[in-house]
Amino acid sequence: MPNSNLFPNEAHFNILQSIVETAIDGILLIDPAGKILMVNTAGTRLFGFSTEEMLGNNVSMLMPPPDRDHHNDYIDNYRRTGIRKIIGIGREVQGRRKNGTLFPARLAVSEVTIEGNQYFTGILQDITEMKAVQQRIINLNNELKQSVIDKTTELQETVNLLLETNQQLNRSIEKHKSYELALLATRDELKKALAMEKELNSLKSRFVSMTSHEFKTPLSSILSSASLISKYVTTEQEADRARHVDRIKSSVNHLNGIMIDFLSLTKIDEGHFIPVISGFLIEDLLVDLQAETQDLLKKDQELICRHEVKGLHINSDKKVIRNILYNLLSNAIKYSDEGKKIICTIMPISDAIQITIKDEGMGIPAEDQKHIGSRFFRATNAINVPGTGLGLNIVLSYLHTLKGELSFDSQEGKGTTFTIQLPLHHEK
Ligand code: ADP
Repeated sequence: MPNSNLFPNEAHFNILQSIVETAIDGILLIDPAGKILMVNTAGTRLFGFSTEEMLGNNVSMLMPPPDRDHHNDYIDNYRRTGIRKIIGIGREVQGRRKNGTLFPARLAVSEVTIEGNQYFTGILQDITEMKAVQQRIINLNNELKQSVIDKTTELQETVNLLLETNQQLNRSIEKHKSYELALLATRDELKKALAMEKELNSLKSRFVSMTSHEFKTPLSSILSSASLISKYVTTEQEADRARHVDRIKSSVNHLNGIMIDFLSLTKIDEGHFIPVISGFLIEDLLVDLQAETQDLLKKDQELICRHEVKGLHINSDKKVIRNILYNLLSNAIKYSDEGKKIICTIMPISDAIQITIKDEGMGIPAEDQKHIGSRFFRATNAINVPGTGLGLNIVLSYLHTLKGELSFDSQEGKGTTFTIQLPLHHEK
C-alpha cells in the first residue's frame, strides 16, 4: 500500500493507491538504502509476506544469494557512477518467497525524486508460467528436433535399405539373366544334339538302304559266277571260267572300292586324316591317272588331258589329290554314255592350280544341284547307275583339309564340269 507520508495531497494519494492496489504485478518502493517503504497487495501475495513483515525491511529479503548480498552495492554503484544496469531497462530476476522457494520474475525499476529525496520503484511480474511455457516450447522444440533427427535417421536407414534391396534386385536380375543365357545355351546345345541325332539317324537309314542296294548286285553276281564256275569243268570251258573269274574280281573290286570309301570317311570324321605333303609334278599324276582309268572307259569313250603349262610343281598330298581326281574322273566316265569325250584341263592361277573335268554325260537336274556333295546323296537321274553318294562328300572333305575348293556347272542331258582349285603350296 502507498505510503501516505510521501503524498501530502490526499486526492493524489487515493488515486495512486487505487491504481497500485488494483495492479496485478507486485509494486515496491524502496529508498537508496534498500529499505522497503511501500508494497502493494500483489507484492505481498507474490512473496508470501504480510505488509508489516515487508515494510521497513531491506528489499534483499526478497532475493536469493548472490543478489541478496550485493543489492546495496548495486544501488551504491549506480548512485556513484550513474551507469544503469537495471533502472529503466528491466530484467529477469529470481524472487525469494517467505518460505524460501524461488520464482522467476520480470523486474522493471524506475527512479523517482520527491522533494530532493531519491526513491526507487520496482514492478515485479511473476513469470513462472511464462517460463514453464517457454520451457515447454524449448522441450517441444528439442523433441521436435530429436524427432526430425530420428525420422531423418529412420528415413536414411529406409533409403539405405531400399538401395540395398535395389542392389540385391539388380544382382538377382543379373543372376537370372545369366541363368536365362545358360538355359538358352543349353537349349541351343540340345537343339544341336537333337539335330545331330536326327542327322545320324537319317545317315544310318541312308547307309542301310545304300549298302543293301549296292552290295546286293555284286554279291549276287559273285554267287552266281562262283556256282557257274563249278559247272565249267572241261578244258573247252576255260574261256567261260575266266569270264566268271573276271566278273567275281570286278565285283570284289567294286565292293572293295565302297569299303575304301567308308574307311576314308571314318578316318576323316574321326580326325585321323593327316595330309602327307611332298613336291610333285601335277602332269605326272595326270598321266598315271589316265592309265588307271583306261579300264573304266566305256566303248569309244575318250579321256583327253590338257596341260596349259608344262612342269607345274605342286606341294601337297599326292595320294589325296590322286583320289580326288580319280573320283571326279570315274564319275565323269560313269555318268557319260559310250562314245563321249571327257576333257581334263590343268591351268595355273596366281598361286593356285585349277583342274577342270568336263563331260558330256547325263548332267545333274537343277533341283538336285544344291544337295550335291551331301553324304549319300544321289541325283534323281542317277538311280539306275551304281553308286553310293559318298565320293563327292569325301572329295569335299579332302579338299577342305588341303585348303582347296570345289565347284561345278551342270545341265541335265548336256554334261557337267567339275572344277577344283588347290594352293600350289600347302600351308599347315
Ligand atoms: P556316286 O557316284 O557313288 O553316287 P558321288 O558322291 O560321287 O557318288 O556323286 C554323288 C551324285 O552326284 C551322283 O550320284 C550323281 O547323281 C551326281 N554326279 C556326280 N558326278 C556326276 C557327273 N559327272 N555327272 C552327272 N552326275 C554326277
